[in-house]
Amino acid sequence: MSATPNKQTGYEPTPRGVPLLDLNRQHAPLKDQIAASLGRVWDTGAFVLGPEVKQLEANVAQCCQTRHAIGCASGSDALLLALMALEIGPGDEVILPSFTFFATAGAVTRLGARPVFADIDPATFNLAPEAVQRLVRPATKAILPVHLFGLCADMDALGRIARSAGIPLVEDCAQAIGAEFDGHRAGSMGAAGCLSFYPTKNLGGAGDGGMLVTNDDGMAQRLRLLRVHGMEPRYYHKVVGINSRLDSFQAAVLNVKFPCLDDWTRRREANARRYDALFVAAGLDRILVLPRHSTRCRHVWNQYVVRVPNAQRDRMRAFLAESKIGTEVYYPLGLHSQECFRELGYAPGDLPETERAAQEVLALPIFPELTADEQAFVVDRMAAFFRSAPRGHALSGPKFLTHPLARKS
Ligand SMILES: *Cc1c(COP(=O)(O)O)cnc(C)c1O
Repeated sequence: MSATPNKQTGYEPTPRGVPLLDLNRQHAPLKDQIAASLGRVWDTGAFVLGPEVKQLEANVAQCCQTRHAIGCASGSDALLLALMALEIGPGDEVILPSFTFFATAGAVTRLGARPVFADIDPATFNLAPEAVQRLVRPATKAILPVHLFGLCADMDALGRIARSAGIPLVEDCAQAIGAEFDGHRAGSMGAAGCLSFYPTKNLGGAGDGGMLVTNDDGMAQRLRLLRVHGMEPRYYHKVVGINSRLDSFQAAVLNVKFPCLDDWTRRREANARRYDALFVAAGLDRILVLPRHSTRCRHVWNQYVVRVPNAQRDRMRAFLAESKIGTEVYYPLGLHSQECFRELGYAPGDLPETERAAQEVLALPIFPELTADEQAFVVDRMAAFFRSAPRGHALSGPKFLTHPLARKS
């Protein structure tokens, strides 16, 4: 690095900034192996499903501690297929968070069922079980928790609610492959778990891909049927399914990457701990809210998300962008407030914790290959942001700085 060391911190700033995610760093050492594997698929001419997909299904089933894994075209399709297998349709309700990626609710709506949004626990960003309990009624046909950012929802409390209502849990594990709750892997606790291999996920392909995991033999059989238009045997259709197959090239890439997943997850975890320590050292843990660790959970850190107080999030983001530090807002608008769901009748204030999180969250770079220097640079720029807040500004007095949920001194 050519820049001169910063006098205050002593380390060298990264001249090229810090990307939110740099897949090239992950892929460079695997490039030859991936190319060879793709070449072998090309030579077989088997481009859809096939032996590479079977191998990936075995790998993922083992990782998720489930009897079955069923490849499909995307995480969004995995959600759709899981709800189809449970025969969810018009007149049915599914309880899910509003603070999630669109696909979670899109799957419910695509089947003609009604998404019923429950608020989140502000400490975890995941479904608040009490909020879910209040929404259960006879029309409720499933609960769809999301393990957001790589941290499992409270599957103990949600499991109790689902069992007493006699309805299934479907886990959205798109951001949480390898995560655990009370020692159980994400995807192994509900009727089915839905995984995504979108490139930004912890195990990402070179395009779209997804997978379902389940311990239920009947469920697995229905899912295998539904992903191929309900066809069994060839050209005889038992049910109306969809075309949602995982292609062999994606599976080949993912099989090369799979053995690295555990090491990458450990590095994400180490990066999270390093951020925590850097924020504490800079005194920023009393201004920002740092993400929750939990002894009950193995967090897999798909994202490291802080809360920025006092409506400063967007200014902080712009400030970091000036230093070429990549950040993202997951998610700026709860699903209950989306234009396409206007007819569901939600009003501002209906899900206050979701709405507050949408204003405050900021995701920082956390990818496995991120360096300690880069993390120090990110934290240094965040500290500089608070130092540079103009006089007379809401941030000029320390008592305004502190987020109400931040650690008290
Ligand atoms: C990525 C994601 C999905 C959808 O996965 P795709 O493979 O992109 O279709 C669903 N839910 C959540 C929470 C996600 O992060």
